[in-house]
Order: sequence, then C-alpha cells, then structure tokens
Amino acid sequence: VTDLLIVEDDAVIGSTLRDALTAQGYQVRWETSGRAGLAALCSTAPDLVLLDLGLPDLDGVEVTRRVRAAAASAVVVVLTARTDEIDVVIGLEAGADDYLTKPFRLAELLARLRAHLRRGPAAPCAPDGDAREVHQVGGLRVDPAARRCTLGATEVALRAREFDLLARLAAAAGQAVRRETLMADVWDEHWFGSTKTLDVHVAALRRRLTDAATAAGMAAPILTTLRGHGYRLEQV
Ligand code: CA
Repeated sequence: VTDLLIVEDDAVIGSTLRDALTAQGYQVRWETSGRAGLAALCSTAPDLVLLDLGLPDLDGVEVTRRVRAAAASAVVVVLTARTDEIDVVIGLEAGADDYLTKPFRLAELLARLRAHLRRGPAAPCAPDGDAREVHQVGGLRVDPAARRCTLGATEVALRAREFDLLARLAAAAGQAVRRETLMADVWDEHWFGSTKTLDVHVAALRRRLTDAATAAGMAAPILTTLRGHGYRLEQV
C-alpha cells in the first residue's frame, strides 16, 4: 500500500484530491494546516507528500523544508499558485521533488504521482548490472554503486535525484547530454511534466558542488548549460 499525505487547507481541493487518490487505491491522509501536516509525518511514514504552499499557519518554504527534514525518503510534491516560489522550493532551499501549479488537471497529477512512485527511491544509474563503475572527473569522484560523491577528500551531500543527475552527466563527462535524455534517464521515461524541474535540480547541484569546492579549497566542477540542447559536465 502506498501512503500519501495531503496538506491542503482548501476544503474543495483537499476533499477532491483525497477522494480521487483514495479511488486510485492509495492510502490517503489529509491535513488542513502545516502544523497538523508535520504532526502527521511523525505518526505515519508517507511515501509521498502533496503539499500546498499557501497554508494558513506556516510559510510554504519553511513547511517544505521541515517536511523534507522529517520525511527524508518521501517524495515531496508542492502545489502552488505562486510560480515565483518554485525555484526556491524545489531545488535551492527546501528540497521538494516536483511541483504542480494551480489550477492543475487531476489526470496530470495522477500521472506525475505514478511516475514518482514507480521509480522509487535511489535507483542506480548504471544500467550494466553489478559492474562497479566509478566516474572520476578531475577531483570529482562519483560512485553510483556506493551512492557516494566526493570532491577531493570532501563528501558532497546530494539528494537522490541530484545524485542521479550528476552520475548521468559524469558518465558522459566532456559530452553534451540532451535535456530529453536526462529527463528520461534521471526521472522517468514516461515523464511528461515540465522540464523546468531539470533546471532547478541543475541549479541546486551547482550550488552544492560550489559549496563543497569551497570547503575542499578546490575548483568547483563546471556544469555548462547548452541552450536549447542540454548540459555538459566539463572534463578537466
Ligand atoms: Ca492554500
């Protein structure tokens, strides 16, 4: 059984989501405030949290950060009417995995949830079974089997999707990787949500690498944006 937690103060949206997701076979709990949602995280361990950013009692970014901290392995999808907050909430600060902008179609929400839940946590990138492949790019070392990333002697703390993204780029260091390829390999082959989520994850990844480089006293790995094409992790 897949457990979902909905945190949404709007009675119409909340009840519609609860009923629709229950009908899909999910075990659904619905809370109407940030505090109640956070309390529910302690008593249940949801696989996925659907989180409204506009809650009456807590700031949306703050509640996202606290949900992420309390439910490290859960997929966190934020619902928002405020597009200006999306970058902050997804990649840079709070660590949500995805977002939907209100109003959204129920069919799109269901498809996105299925894509997230089918994937499951921390799928390894390397397709070649138990071959232990480690990618070394300058001082950057990415070990998909161990799910470890180091820069020099400094461990780089990455979230699951950031690690998968870096591992995919490091496997092709020096080569351009198309956006569609990254979305298919790192997210889901049937993904049909916005690919903006890729850009915010890249932004978050760059920041984590820069922070690690500062800590290690080294140059940060260079992740080049190729407009209209994709990204390239520079070979050094
Ligand atoms: Ca609201």
